[in-house]
Amino acid sequence: MAESAAPLLATLGAIVGEANVLTADTDIAPYSTDWRDRYRGRPRAVVRPGTTAEVAAAVRCCAEHAVPIVPQGGNTSLCGGATPHEGGHEVVVSLTRMNRVRAVDADNATLTVEAGATLASVQQAAADAGLMFPLSLGAEGSCAIGGNLATNAGGTAVLRFGNARDLVLGLEVVLADGRVWNGLRALRKDNTGYDLKQLFLGNEGTLGIITAAVLKLFPKQRTSATAFVGVGDVSAALGLLRAMRQALGDRLTGFELISAECIALTRRELPAMPDPLPGHAWYALVQADDAAEQSPLSAQLEAALADAIESGVARDATIAQSEAQAADLWALRDNIPEAQRREGPNIKHDISLPVSAFPAFLDEAKEALDAAFPGLRYVTFGHLGDGNLHYNLAPPPGTRGEAFIAGQARANRIVYDLVARYGGSFSAEHGIGQLKRDELSRYKSALEVELMQRIKHALDPEGLLNPGKVL
Ligand SMILES: Cc1cc2nc3c(=O)[nH]c(=O)nc-3n(C[C@H](O)[C@H](O)[C@H](O)COP(=O)(O)OP(=O)(O)OC[C@H]3O[C@@H](n4cnc5c(N)ncnc54)[C@H](O)[C@@H]3O)c2cc1C
Repeated sequence: MAESAAPLLATLGAIVGEANVLTADTDIAPYSTDWRDRYRGRPRAVVRPGTTAEVAAAVRCCAEHAVPIVPQGGNTSLCGGATPHEGGHEVVVSLTRMNRVRAVDADNATLTVEAGATLASVQQAAADAGLMFPLSLGAEGSCAIGGNLATNAGGTAVLRFGNARDLVLGLEVVLADGRVWNGLRALRKDNTGYDLKQLFLGNEGTLGIITAAVLKLFPKQRTSATAFVGVGDVSAALGLLRAMRQALGDRLTGFELISAECIALTRRELPAMPDPLPGHAWYALVQADDAAEQSPLSAQLEAALADAIESGVARDATIAQSEAQAADLWALRDNIPEAQRREGPNIKHDISLPVSAFPAFLDEAKEALDAAFPGLRYVTFGHLGDGNLHYNLAPPPGTRGEAFIAGQARANRIVYDLVARYGGSFSAEHGIGQLKRDELSRYKSALEVELMQRIKHALDPEGLLNPGKVL
């Protein structure tokens, strides 16, 4: 430990308890790298507060010592947002000990929960109250609700319920100087000036530390239907999306697109995964849910799929016959990122476009990328219903991962220039972190970047909150 760090660490120890100030290499290792192992940092310490007052005091202490802070939840960021830099200057503030449910109000359909609760535990708390919290994503067992809100996470139910931002009524936030903003209001209508919580939703730890939130709950969905559908191409998948919307209305919760390459890769890396409908180029995973117990949902989905096959939009389909079968289909989808991680380095693009633009975009992008990187493999999947695909590139067989990653900047330019030309976004739901910081200044207008910088300066004038991320 550097001599000058001792007073800081002693004060932090007095605030959160010495056992919750980690400095040993083995203790800080899990907080020092990201889920994909693409970034490695070295924090001065990891601090694990147990209350909002402790977060506030720890932030004040860091501010007094001019020490930068990296807020961290479940550390599942896919763009290095929660990874400290090298150099041992920063303190990671991990929220995972703050995982209590503070209040459930079933009549108001709200849940007040602390930021470190895992998303899965938030879903469970809602279910225990006879209600439902709809945010759902592959990392839900380990990501924290504070991280979900700080990245405005999307996931697999956005089509019906919106992004994380749409599921929040109030926030409690520790500001850069250690003051606590209590905005934990549980109101669906509140036009009393600027909606400040929106600044902190998607702030990626750069404007304040979210310590608690009031979340919107929804009626429990008592009937569900899940189908896996083979389609010939992405245009056909769009036709199927329209047909499902028409047939199911707002009971259509999710519509995921999966390429055959994704399924082959996932089954190679995780052989227990199912292969529900072999022989098609593309697949759609369709999820529909209804709050009514006696709902004809399954029969309606079956009829709509029969029509889609009859009209040539779909080629074949299988409907899950039990909750276990539906869970298997979702496990196949949710494990694509894990299979990619196991296979080795790859280049991820989390892009969004007007959904109608995808067929032309995918053709044009493939043509340009094939010319630049012969033999490239495309691992394309994601939330087609939301106009959001994970357009991931994997190295040709036999290519070393490191050599492939060296081409990342060139690949990004091809993909993101094209995304911009089609009116899309280079980050649909994962955020900016450190991975896409340079893209932000390239693709946002100078005015938009200036406004963001002004907001950052107003809320964090010393630049102590997650420096080097986003801006
Ligand atoms: C297998 C897998 C599947 C995924 N699927 C999806 C998906 O479908 N949709 C999607 O949107 N994302 C997805 N992600 C990305 C990631 O899980 C989400 O973005 C998640 O919301 C991050 O939560 P976390 O608690 O792990 O945050 P972390 O990784 O700990 O932090 C993420 C960012 O938020 C900041 N932060 C964390 N907590 C706070 C806080 N309390 N206050 C202020 N700032 C904070 C951090 O500084 C960092 O910048 C996936 C990731 C994995 C590994």
